[in-house]
Amino acid sequence: MTMRELLKKSRMVRVSILLCAGIVAGAGAVYLYFHDPKIYPIPCALHLLTGLYCPGCGAGRACYALLHGDVLEAFCYNPLMTILIPFIGLYIVGRGIDWAVTGGNHVDGRINVRFLVGVLVLILIYGILRNIPVPPFSLLAPGGLSGLF
Ligand SMILES: [Zn+2]
Repeated sequence: MTMRELLKKSRMVRVSILLCAGIVAGAGAVYLYFHDPKIYPIPCALHLLTGLYCPGCGAGRACYALLHGDVLEAFCYNPLMTILIPFIGLYIVGRGIDWAVTGGNHVDGRINVRFLVGVLVLILIYGILRNIPVPPFSLLAPGGLSGLF
């Protein structure tokens, strides 16, 4: 029996894999909770190479702030990701549970492709705008909103 056949037939294997993924994600959250990215920065390859902010820059600090219940600080570090994180989390959990229980994918087909393209375009535009060093765009850089609150 190949791995693909095993995954297709055995709900127990799929649930075990999902539980392992949940444990890894939980361990990552615990690690982040106790390691402040302001002290232990999570490097961004784009920022290191070019000095430009990618759409995800500040997301580690935003997640750290969210883990500590500070939504406003998270918003200051990465406003778009702070808004998108709950939806991305819901998608990942829903998709994982669907796969573990049914072995199929009944989630992706229910998401409008135009909506996904719209979100991707929004992330791309956000990534461009946050690199313009002039207000109000500079407010989108990591920590740019901190001065306002
Ligand atoms: Zn980045």
